[in-house]
Amino acid sequence: MARAGELIHPVYAEMQTTVFEAMSGLARELGAINLGQGFPDDLGPVELIDAAARALREKSNQYPPSAGLPELRDAICAFYQRRQGMALSREQVIVTSGATEAIAGAVLALVSPGDEVILFQPAYDAYAPMVRRAGGVPVSVALQPPMWRYEAKQLAAAITSRTRLLILNDPLNPAGTAASEAELAMISGLCVENDLIAISDEVWEDVRFDGAGHRSLMSFPGMAKRTVKIGSAGKIFGLTGWKSGWMIAAPELAKGLARAHQFITFTSPPALQWAVAEGLALPDAWFAARDAGWAASRQRLKRGLEGAGFVVLPNAATWFLCVDLAASGIALGDRAFSERAIREAGVASIPVSALFEGEAPQHIVRFCFTKPDAMLDEAVQRLAGFRRSLV
Ligand code: GLN
Repeated sequence: MARAGELIHPVYAEMQTTVFEAMSGLARELGAINLGQGFPDDLGPVELIDAAARALREKSNQYPPSAGLPELRDAICAFYQRRQGMALSREQVIVTSGATEAIAGAVLALVSPGDEVILFQPAYDAYAPMVRRAGGVPVSVALQPPMWRYEAKQLAAAITSRTRLLILNDPLNPAGTAASEAELAMISGLCVENDLIAISDEVWEDVRFDGAGHRSLMSFPGMAKRTVKIGSAGKIFGLTGWKSGWMIAAPELAKGLARAHQFITFTSPPALQWAVAEGLALPDAWFAARDAGWAASRQRLKRGLEGAGFVVLPNAATWFLCVDLAASGIALGDRAFSERAIREAGVASIPVSALFEGEAPQHIVRFCFTKPDAMLDEAVQRLAGFRRSLV
């Protein structure tokens, strides 16, 4: 009998547990404040929780349609019409068990052995392994801090005759930046010119602080038929454990994506689907209040960190602020900082180089700010003391 390590596919055998799971596990073990993995530290919006509880009792607990409840698929279309001016129809929407499942489904449906897939770095850590497991070859295009801009020359140079698709994450986690309209136009232009498909992971589309409305890559000329747009109720409503997401594509493409999804999770819990459908129909004022809450937490952590001598990088979106360690006078690399901060200060963070393939900057750590004020204040105080012990 071969050893366990030899039984496992090399993609997984050579891999570590994700940085998010590892950091959250360590935070639980050490009782640290967890500003690592991105999630709000509360139960979630009462409107959705009540709706889910009601649905558990009064609707159904049996398999919903594989592509999702029609009511939810319609609610997703209405939400995008209202918030992004997109005209979508139900058959374009496949509901998934979280955006990570949507990414898996899209990659399995679209990537064949030998296909090159462009990944901008930093990248969500699921992309590259999924591409490799599908037989594809990830090709990295490294973005440069602090603005993480997309450069036409650099992207064009990465495209070959074997390039099949690119995966874009806009707004970008872990950077907390958002692509400009001109950058999206450039990326879409190269996709059209080179006949590429785009998986556009837009899970942070509704978590923006730059005053700019979100515009999907899918809405650029020539992109409707070649884009898979991925969204997440977990991010929109701060309900990460619900693992509720979706993928959207032109009707023919969506049919293929649905085939992949039906043999991953097949469907997802109906009560959560009913609740998300209700949530997406909440009035604009509800979303504005949600934004104000997140913006206040963001400002509180930014002020606190800056007051403690940390240099915070520009942020336009997501639940994360990044700190430049080198600019903050800290000589530690990001992994060493995160490792020591959780053990010595009791605060978990994410080293940005963990979300990078290839040559990564080693001086940036990410902190999640969707936490109660008292928790943010305590974390800042601990980090301030930790910084003093280093410089
Ligand atoms: N997207 C989340 C983050 O960046 C992590 C998701 C996960 O842990 N699966 O923190």
